[in-house]
Amino acid sequence: MKSDNPDFPSPPDANMRRSSPVVIAYPPGDLPPPDMVLYMQARQRASKVTEVLVPARDARCFSVPAGHFFRISSVDGPQVGDLNLWNANDLSERFYSGKTRALHGTHLSTGDRMWSSFPSLRPMATIMADSLDWYGFDSDGGSVHDVIGTRCDPYTHNLLSGGQYHHCCHSNLTRALTDATGRADAESLVHDVLNVFMCTGFTRDTGQYFMKASPVRPGDHLEFFAEIDLLGGLSACPGGDCSAEHSSDVAACYPLLVEVFEPQTSALDNWQSPPVNGYDRSHGR
Ligand SMILES: [Zn+2]
Repeated sequence: MKSDNPDFPSPPDANMRRSSPVVIAYPPGDLPPPDMVLYMQARQRASKVTEVLVPARDARCFSVPAGHFFRISSVDGPQVGDLNLWNANDLSERFYSGKTRALHGTHLSTGDRMWSSFPSLRPMATIMADSLDWYGFDSDGGSVHDVIGTRCDPYTHNLLSGGQYHHCCHSNLTRALTDATGRADAESLVHDVLNVFMCTGFTRDTGQYFMKASPVRPGDHLEFFAEIDLLGGLSACPGGDCSAEHSSDVAACYPLLVEVFEPQTSALDNWQSPPVNGYDRSHGR
C-alpha cells in the first residue's frame, strides 16, 4: 500500500511528472471484433440442450461445444459465482484473467471476451448478454463481473485467519474438476476467475481491493458464446452476495444455474473457432 508518509521527498517537478496524459495501453479498437450480428442470429434459434445446477458453497463442471451458448443465472437469491474456463481438448489452455483485464478493463460486459493463456492467447468465450449492464460504475468505483479478484482460497484464509476451511471457490473448483476429469493434478489447473455477479473495485484513496453486496437478483444472467470447445467450472462462492465475508459458512448462499444452448444446423456454417495466436515462439533465439 502507498504510504501517507513517504520516505523520500517530492522532487521540485513532482506535479509536472504526475500530470502526464493517460494512454490507454490496449485500445479496444485494435482488437479483432466479434461478429455479434452473426452470434445473435444463431442465438435466436438456439435451443437448450443441458443444464447444471451448481449447489451453494460447491462447484460443478459443464461442457460447451464451440458455437454453442451458455448462460449463468441467479435462481433463488443473490449469489456470486467464480468461473473457470478450459479448452476441453487441452486443459493447459485456460482463461487468462490478467490479460483479459488489460484488454477489456477491470469488469466485463456485453461484447467483451474471455482470452486464453499463452501461447494460444485467443478468445475462449464472448459475452452475449449481461442483465446487470445497467449498473455501470457506482460512486465507490465498484462494478460487477470483475477480472481483478483471484478466487477465495484456503491458503489465504489460513494465512490470515488460521484454520482449515474446505469450501472456498479454489477448493470447490478443484473437487469439481477432479470429478469431471479424474485428473490428479486438477488443483494446478484451477486459475484466476471471472467473478460473475460480484461487485468489486479498488478504493479511490488507497487502491485496495474491495467488495460490496452484489446487485444480482434471481433472473439476472450473464450469457456467453463458446468460441472453442469449452470445459467450464463454476463455484457458488461461500461469500453468497459477498456483502460481508467469504471463506466461511456464515453468509447466506444460493445455487447458480448453468444452461447450454445449441444453435440450429447451418446457423454458423461460415464461422470457425479462432486460431491460436500467430507468434512463432522463437523469442529471438
Ligand atoms: Zn469465492
